[in-house]
Amino acid sequence: MSINNRLTTSWGAPVGDNQNSQTAGQRGPTLIQDVHLLEKLAHFNRERVPERVVHAKGAGAHGYFEVTQDLSTYTKAKVFNGVGKRTPMFIRFSTVAGELGSADTVRDPRGFAVKFYTEDGNYDIVGNNTPVFFIRDAIKFPDFIHTQKRDPRTHLKNPTAVWDFWSHSPESLHQVTILMSDRGIPATLRHMHGFGSHTFKWVNEQGEGAWVKYHFKTEQGVKNLDVDLAAQIAGENPDYHTEDLFNAIEAGDFPAWKLYVQIMPLEDADTYRFDPFDVTKVWSQKDYPLIEAGRMVLDRNPENYFAEVEQATFSPGTLVPGVDVSPDKMLQGRLFAYSDAHRYRVGANHNALPINRPKAEVNNYQRDGQMRFDNNGGGSVYYEPNSFGGPTETPENKPAPFAVSGVADSVAYDHNDHYTQAGDLYRLLSEEERARLVNNIVNAMKPVALEEIKIRQIHHFLKADAEYGARIAEGLGIAIEQNV
Ligand code: NDP
Repeated sequence: MSINNRLTTSWGAPVGDNQNSQTAGQRGPTLIQDVHLLEKLAHFNRERVPERVVHAKGAGAHGYFEVTQDLSTYTKAKVFNGVGKRTPMFIRFSTVAGELGSADTVRDPRGFAVKFYTEDGNYDIVGNNTPVFFIRDAIKFPDFIHTQKRDPRTHLKNPTAVWDFWSHSPESLHQVTILMSDRGIPATLRHMHGFGSHTFKWVNEQGEGAWVKYHFKTEQGVKNLDVDLAAQIAGENPDYHTEDLFNAIEAGDFPAWKLYVQIMPLEDADTYRFDPFDVTKVWSQKDYPLIEAGRMVLDRNPENYFAEVEQATFSPGTLVPGVDVSPDKMLQGRLFAYSDAHRYRVGANHNALPINRPKAEVNNYQRDGQMRFDNNGGGSVYYEPNSFGGPTETPENKPAPFAVSGVADSVAYDHNDHYTQAGDLYRLLSEEERARLVNNIVNAMKPVALEEIKIRQIHHFLKADAEYGARIAEGLGIAIEQNV
């Protein structure tokens, strides 16, 4: 047998017997001196890292992004510069609320997290398959997710908590409408769009900025699952979406998305009819049309799920020169929360793992920490400033300066029209789509324990569109005339 093929312990010593524990005599007991057995059992106990609190169930793929239109007028980010230029990328799709083994075909937003390995370091767009979100201030996120997860007493999903929170948070109405529409259960991960959702700032070589939003449009076309079929598949093949993505790529049927951006001049943010930093709202494409940027193609499956998908770590704060953040309060909170989750879940050195490691060289003064498995900077200088030629800052890569004003306080957004855009979406749907939307909402709200929650929520639907609200009230058997 070749030495390369012999079974070893984790410390590289050959294993003599991998079928039988060492025992005292034929019957045993088992000897504690069987260190191979001890290590094998102990490592097995530690095979799982904590699953993500949200977006636990995921599927990933490698691919590339190719620039189809040079957007260097707006951004110096190299990933978007130079027609024909290709940047390797990795994507992770996910559901939000379910656990690691939960069913794929449930009604839930889908995570759409893209990591571009650019020559200026990694750039992550960590979005969803919806252009908006349920809340717009990160301070509400833990409460919101509690309502999406299991009730602490029953360990069951709790529709009363879900609708109680939403009815008290009318900014959720737009996203609730999208979630309850046909697009709430995509047919496959290939047949849905992706969105960066937040507003970011692009900055060009001249230091000029513009606000930007990202839209990944599926080239496979949008397809959704019928609710009854989705429920059936959830029982029969809970990994349906994961399997579909893997099989398509394995068969050479590479899924692709066109990336478009909406660009808003910086000064428009003060006058636009919606707050452009409010992630519960879209920018109308009639006001800010889609501009093509490039094409993303997924052409390679991971070799190892844990190493590449489970250990992949994305953060909206993983930015490169040419992309800055916006004052979006949900984004600002995520800048902390995502990397913090990865430090807890995967470790302080998560960015050194092969799936997360930039293709660009990493030079800094970070040292040590758990699982520091590279050479830890070797003998190089480990502080700055220094006299030994260590890496130095490049001022041209500072984020673009911006003005701030106002009094520091816990301040709410001052734009509270949560109804127009939800209503616009309702009015954009066909009669069949509206009927299914209403039916989905009625079925989801029926189990809500308190009548007052249903009534409060119906009032939100009514404000979005009188027909929309009336149909839901009727479906729930609630006489709205008495309650408006
Ligand atoms: P536009 O006509 O310019 O855009 C309509 C958008 O709605 C398109 O992106 C379309 O995507 C999308 N859409 C169509 N059917 C559905 C559906 N069932 N669920 C979710 N999205 C759908 O109008 P506006 O930009 O003025 O927006 C009107 C409404 O469209 C908004 O209030 C918002 O709810 C919704 N929307 C807007 C987006 C935006 O970026 N402005 C993005 C997505 C939705 P497609 O071409 O794939 O059908």
